[in-house]
Amino acid sequence: MTILVLAEHDNQQLKSDTAKVVSAATAIGGDIHVLVAGENCQAVAEQAKQLAGVTKVLVADASVYAAHLAENLSKLIAAIAVDYSHVLAAASSVGKATLPRVSALADVAQISEIIEVVSADTFVRPIYAGNALATVQSLDDKKVITVRSSAFDAVEPTGNAEIEALSQVIEARTEFVSQTLTESERPELGNAGVIVSGGRGMGSGENFAILEQLADKLGAAVGASRAAVDAGFVPNDLQVGQTGKIVAPDLYIAVGISGAIQHLAGMKDSKVIVAINKDPEAPIFQVADYGLEADLFDAIPALNAQL
Ligand code: FAD
Repeated sequence: MTILVLAEHDNQQLKSDTAKVVSAATAIGGDIHVLVAGENCQAVAEQAKQLAGVTKVLVADASVYAAHLAENLSKLIAAIAVDYSHVLAAASSVGKATLPRVSALADVAQISEIIEVVSADTFVRPIYAGNALATVQSLDDKKVITVRSSAFDAVEPTGNAEIEALSQVIEARTEFVSQTLTESERPELGNAGVIVSGGRGMGSGENFAILEQLADKLGAAVGASRAAVDAGFVPNDLQVGQTGKIVAPDLYIAVGISGAIQHLAGMKDSKVIVAINKDPEAPIFQVADYGLEADLFDAIPALNAQL
């Protein structure tokens, strides 16, 4: 078996998700190759070659891959996938846009967002917003799989794989025009070790300032419930949950969040969950390791002062 893992990066830094996808590939077993497609992305290849278990890093360096557009990436992957038994990517925006195209081009079924590898053809994936787990077996000769990276531990950077440049350059189907990014000094939600999330209980966008202060003291990312996003308190890229980001940090602090199943679907795999809520009946307390029944407008400033 030979497994191809799509590296995620910004042409300079490899994202931590890739080391977790390699971990899933290791559980499948076989030769693991990592594809680094981008522009001027040699530094990323140097990082990818260190991932334990990887035997080869394929580098496709051309302007057509610079923005990691799914239309272009999928054409490249489909062209090289003929040599592979499995193609894996993180269930991120890039992976979720790219791999279904790869599976369509390869005429096989897509296996989405696995959280466990049972064997080389059998995988566990959550359904109904994580309320049930399905064990699925694929009889296709090629498995195209997205991986919920929060369910796998990253492999160590102890390897030393060979790097091979790919000469083929596909014709661009889509051109990159521009992007608008939210600039933040704080860590990204998906990569943060600590997340401080606010809900409708925060009352307003201005009140999020006390959570941001707490986040800065803890080196944490800020998240939010959908109610907080829908009320316009914070932008929707902060949303955690079924229709937001799926996270599993070491510490998740839920403030003024009731704990609806759609929110839990995005954070219940966090290692330690802390809930601050004034309602003792709030369902968030059922998943919390530590619960503080308090008014957040007393508790958070007190916590900030202590920290
Ligand atoms: P509420 O449920 O209103 O809870 C607010 C909490 O704050 C209460 O528990 C209250 O006791 C507490 N509180 C209020 N004031 C204070 C105070 N001063 N001090 C302490 N505590 C206080 N939701 C998500 O979060 N993410 C999703 O991705 C998501 N996807 C969805 C998809 C679908 C298809 C549907 C139908 C819903 C989805 N939802 C999602 C919405 C979800 O059902 C809930 O409505 C939402 O999570 C509620 O957000 P909340 O906990 O902030 O608000």
